[in-house]
Amino acid sequence: MHFVKQLYEDLIQSLYPNLCLSCGDELYNNNEQVCLKCIFELPRTSFENILLNPVEKIFQGRIFFNAAHSEFYFSKGQVIQRLIHQLKYKGNKDIGIWLGQMMGRSLAGSARFKDVDLLLPVPLNSKKEFKRGYNQSKIICEGLSDMMKTPVLDDCLIREKETQTQTRKHRTERWINVSGGFDLRNQAKLINKHILLVDDVLTTGATLEACTQVLSAVPGIRISIATLAFASI
Ligand SMILES: [Zn+2]
Repeated sequence: MHFVKQLYEDLIQSLYPNLCLSCGDELYNNNEQVCLKCIFELPRTSFENILLNPVEKIFQGRIFFNAAHSEFYFSKGQVIQRLIHQLKYKGNKDIGIWLGQMMGRSLAGSARFKDVDLLLPVPLNSKKEFKRGYNQSKIICEGLSDMMKTPVLDDCLIREKETQTQTRKHRTERWINVSGGFDLRNQAKLINKHILLVDDVLTTGATLEACTQVLSAVPGIRISIATLAFASI
């Protein structure tokens, strides 16, 4: 049933591109994809200024990090899920940039993220990226970069091996599955830098944990984390 509904919504969207991606109301500005009402309904977390916010609690004791943030609460069937679905499965890069800009505005105004030097997208495995045509985390970084005036670096953290699909896996299994999957290149670019590791949705944090472990080998590095959405488990 869900599939049929999704198909119907996609069809409507392709026939009437000037409708809000979320509620279907007419948009009055051709440059927009979401109406004002839906923008106001987006579930912002305001975690960026909160020490030991729920995202930081996920990573506390597991990794060394500077600060961590998610811009939105992820809830199924809500506006944010639809928008992230557009970014990940419908080739809608513009919505990813737009959401990244929203998060960038929050982070640019936060003292805890002010001195970030570089934005690092979590890499996809090459098969997935080839299939999608882009890495959605890098698209989010582009939006962040607009607002934070910080460069994006995608040639330092790379994904080495194929990792199996992660759905329906226990946290320990996931950890084993992804821990060996990341590797470093061009380390010198990261020495003594404050980097912001960026991903789309935070669930168990296993992928970000694995990336952080690899990155922490760089001398003088400080690592912060930001994801668009936070799915509490
Ligand atoms: Zn709307």
